[in-house]
Amino acid sequence: MSAAAQARRRRGQDELSIVAFERGRATSYSACGIPYWIGGVVESEDALVARTPEQHRAGGIDMRMRTEVTAIDLSRRVVHWRDLDAGTEGDEAFDALHYATGSVPMRPPVPGIDSRGVYGVQVLDDGVDLIRELESGEVHRVVVVGGGYIGLEIAEACQRRGLHVTVVDRSATPVGTFDADVGAFLAEAVRGLGIELVLGDGVAEIGVRDGRACAVVTASGREIPADLVVLGLGVRPAVRLAQEAGIPLGASGGIAVDARMRTQAEGVWAAGDCVESVHRLSGQRVVVALGTHANKQGRVAGINLGGGYATFPGVIGTAITKVCELEAARTGLSSVEADEAGYAYVTAVVDSTTKAGYMPGAEPVRMKMLAERRSGRLLGAQIVGRQGAAKRIDALAIAVWNEMSVDEVLGLDLSYAPPFSPVWDPVLITARKAQEAVEADLSVC
Ligand SMILES: Cc1cc2nc3c(=O)[nH]c(=O)nc-3n(C[C@H](O)[C@H](O)[C@H](O)COP(=O)(O)OP(=O)(O)OC[C@H]3O[C@@H](n4cnc5c(N)ncnc54)[C@H](O)[C@@H]3O)c2cc1C
Repeated sequence: MSAAAQARRRRGQDELSIVAFERGRATSYSACGIPYWIGGVVESEDALVARTPEQHRAGGIDMRMRTEVTAIDLSRRVVHWRDLDAGTEGDEAFDALHYATGSVPMRPPVPGIDSRGVYGVQVLDDGVDLIRELESGEVHRVVVVGGGYIGLEIAEACQRRGLHVTVVDRSATPVGTFDADVGAFLAEAVRGLGIELVLGDGVAEIGVRDGRACAVVTASGREIPADLVVLGLGVRPAVRLAQEAGIPLGASGGIAVDARMRTQAEGVWAAGDCVESVHRLSGQRVVVALGTHANKQGRVAGINLGGGYATFPGVIGTAITKVCELEAARTGLSSVEADEAGYAYVTAVVDSTTKAGYMPGAEPVRMKMLAERRSGRLLGAQIVGRQGAAKRIDALAIAVWNEMSVDEVLGLDLSYAPPFSPVWDPVLITARKAQEAVEADLSVC
């Protein structure tokens, strides 16, 4: 819908007709807000909808709701659609096609996965189902399978409702995109919130009683009782229709696009979770399913579709999440990613506080930086801490984006007052340590 709205802004209805198909019942809603709605922080589903189908129609977009596109015929230049309520079908002709089908949640092929009481969290209707379950009075123990950022956000939502929550993840630390030392700090802090973490042990089976999930059985044979199981195992790009139509994918499995969000099929554009992006540090094509990229890419595609010129500059792996008061964020490359990309680097890890240590409410924060050997270029940063810790990642994302060295970061004129940071902000202390590590490494070379 970002693309449609942008294209419409550039070309009026007399010049360009825009038809949008959506198989669901909502448009332009924040999936990112679903965990906070489930947790009762956001009051209603309506609050998550930025723009309704009626508003889009008023803006000159022919919105076909509850209508699924079932095939794309590039030679005839038509999409085939099916109205999910009326059961009717038809073709819609196009000159240009924008493909933005999002992603498909992972469901492990384990016994019991399709039982009642097992839910994913992807669309608004999942939120409706989960809230109904959580308010039924029958649910006391929730097991979340997958300790990624969505899994942890759901764990928080359930904990806020006073339920017993266990998170199961086959990785050694939650949110596997963090380095082990930062992940261990995160794991300890999550446990400190009263959430049970079962790590290094994947799901092998969903135990079922009377057709309903009653336990999660792990690979090691541990059986964790559950009244409700929530899957947070990540997503893969929704590319089936594209594949069937012959729209080329990249090696990452997402649709291959150029900087203007053009696919390799003539007159077909794509954006969002279904495409791959260029990682600016590794140079690799990667699929990163984040709303921040989807919105920017949709805007770029829409400007181009509307006859303008815009490009998407790539990603650097910035992400942020929270579970209760605990926050975690990262940017650039993790150690594993830096190794894979072939960088030689040094690291610095610092434990500091979110405010001056003498201020009430100063909370611990752990920060890690990776700096390239010799050049000292900041390759990546990770932060785990409490209130106010994680948004510091944005300063570091700008530094990574602009290829700054840790020495340059150390010299930045960052803000300081005791209620906001120590006089040496954790960003500066970590940059200083990283610079020392670069220098120590130089003297060894
Ligand atoms: C619980 C949750 C929390 C998240 N939190 C964050 C966060 O904090 N930060 C962040 O950056 N990102 C977050 N995300 C990710 C973010 O929501 C997605 O990256 C973003 O929504 C992707 O946008 P999209 O337009 O590509 O796909 P979507 O928003 O999924 O939209 C695709 C649409 O296409 C429709 N569709 C698919 N196939 C068809 C078809 N054949 N015919 C008709 N319609 C079709 C779908 O119904 C869907 O409405 C979160 C996601 C979830 C699920």
